[in-house]
Amino acid sequence: MALRSIRTALLGLAVGGCAGHDGTPDPRRLVGATVPAGIEASWIDTAVDPCVDFYRFACGGWLSSTPPAMEGLISARFSELQSRTTATVRSVLEAALGGHPVKGLVPGAPVVSLVASCLDPRVEARGLVEVESEIVPLREVTSPASVGEVIVRLEARGIPTVLDFASVPDPGGGPAAVAQIDLRLLGVTRLDAGDVRMPGMREAVRSDVQRTFLRGGFTPDQARAGADRVMALEEALASSDPGRRARNDPRSTYHPMTLEGVKALAPSFPWAKWARAVGLAENAPLNVVHPPGLTALELQLKAASAETWRAALHFAVLRWLQPALPPLEDPAARWNTCLRLATEVMPDSLGPPFVARVLSSADVGAVRLLLGDLEQAFGARLDALTWMDEPTRASARAKLQRLVNRVGHPERWESDSGLILSRESLVANLLAVSRFEGRLEASRVGRPVDRGLWPVSVLRANAYYNVARNEILVPAALLQPPVFSPEFAGPVNLGLVGTVLGHEIIHGFDRRGRWRDGTGALHSGWTEASIRAFDERAACVRAQSDATPVVGGMTVNGAATLDEDLADLGGLRLALLALQERLRNHPEPSSPGLSPEQQLFLGWGQLWCTKASAEAANALLALDVHAPHPVRVNAPLRNLPEFARAFGCPASAPMVAHPRCEVW
Ligand SMILES: [Zn+2]
Repeated sequence: MALRSIRTALLGLAVGGCAGHDGTPDPRRLVGATVPAGIEASWIDTAVDPCVDFYRFACGGWLSSTPPAMEGLISARFSELQSRTTATVRSVLEAALGGHPVKGLVPGAPVVSLVASCLDPRVEARGLVEVESEIVPLREVTSPASVGEVIVRLEARGIPTVLDFASVPDPGGGPAAVAQIDLRLLGVTRLDAGDVRMPGMREAVRSDVQRTFLRGGFTPDQARAGADRVMALEEALASSDPGRRARNDPRSTYHPMTLEGVKALAPSFPWAKWARAVGLAENAPLNVVHPPGLTALELQLKAASAETWRAALHFAVLRWLQPALPPLEDPAARWNTCLRLATEVMPDSLGPPFVARVLSSADVGAVRLLLGDLEQAFGARLDALTWMDEPTRASARAKLQRLVNRVGHPERWESDSGLILSRESLVANLLAVSRFEGRLEASRVGRPVDRGLWPVSVLRANAYYNVARNEILVPAALLQPPVFSPEFAGPVNLGLVGTVLGHEIIHGFDRRGRWRDGTGALHSGWTEASIRAFDERAACVRAQSDATPVVGGMTVNGAATLDEDLADLGGLRLALLALQERLRNHPEPSSPGLSPEQQLFLGWGQLWCTKASAEAANALLALDVHAPHPVRVNAPLRNLPEFARAFGCPASAPMVAHPRCEVW
């Protein structure tokens, strides 16, 4: 990868051009000959007016030349990132499996044994036998008291079933990590009871459960009956769930207590034994995310039949050990399954060799500069907001100053020393990794949070705002073409990775972020008046989404997508401000081609060129907190006067919103 920073790329904007006095450059006329690096000319549909449907303008060529998605999503840029990452990780593992030295990976690393055991063709014959031996304890589920005992035994083996626990920074601001406990449900899905679209989703989830039972050796009749039982228990437990929106409000998910307090919520469950099984001390500081969930568990421990609990726990075991269940795919597909497993289960073991191959320190430096520019833009924006009062502005500025940027990879990788895996048994390896991870999590509780470690994988092509630590995490996997490259024109990088990073900054100050201070502790400096003023402006965006049609006569669920919609709108605003600041410092000579603003907007549009299968589109509409991508691209642009100016859109154009919403 060439070692050039974004700043130098921006200075080299020879192909760009300003709108000048002779009118707005017409991208329909100019694309092809003069598109800057990072914009795909062939994806642009010049037959579409950008002022009518910018998504189709930016992506139409790609949409018509790409075959339909048979399942899941095809994203023009993110699927490409995924393939690049997979190919790199695969070449690392192939070299290691072949006994070759690999930079960043010690010889005999456990992750290599994990992959070898996953690729072993003997899994087909003996995987199910080994999984079934983990099911044996379920025979002892005969009474309410025995359910809890069996859950504890499975936990001790390395199979979590209905309870989730993780070490997290103390939401109350204490220096030590606390153990967070939540109902895991059965790993099926967190059904959102308030969502009217759920009936279709229930069916999809049910057939997924049924398929898992079939792979676990059930007859079709048994699988159907098992799925009915699992779904009934899942829904009974989920009925207590407050839904996604409430879960996003940190005030409603902070319930510090001791194990004694947890016992009071669900007295039938053997909490002391469970704590021992996961390695938690009896006096460990706990946070229960949603206490009514544990009350619902107590209710179901007594009310659900032994058959129902056996089916649910059986499903939990099959789900956890799924990669070992036959039928296995053909060898090529099996490689992908094993790669996915290794990247999901041991990202910190694969992180060093991956980073060594894909990320240069110059890339990290360039992205840090970009983040710095976006944060400076946000600071200037904070100063200029008329709806925010002074006390709130002061606290937001203080929080922005403490925002930490973590780019590329963690300072320290989670160690896998002490984890012993063999190439012999995938099931044994899955259980060993799970127990190892569980013990690591438990060992962190009550100790100062290690900020050198990342709570997310560097192999995921995504970016995160970590609300509990007021930090932005930018994994190495995101910092590759076609989402970022030092070779891309500066405004294009701003439209691609820049809008993503701006989006994450905004999350620090949205309806979730505003309740926490610069250290991530639950302490808000927002006044009631500023909260009201923010919410009034946010309501404008919500009303727009609620009125935006999508497939099948439905509209976007504006309440569900609001935080993401606001982050997109705000992220684009920050990217634009950063661009304007750069252009002020380095004015562009007038030349034919796309203006810097047009490049930025095309980067944004092409970032989200996507095809979804009908099933995936429906699932996303019901569960995703982001609007469907065509809406995601167009909706914020309709609110930006800079967009209308850049493409010369008249006030009556569909891409110009009335009224125009503005928050940040
Ligand atoms: Zn977001």
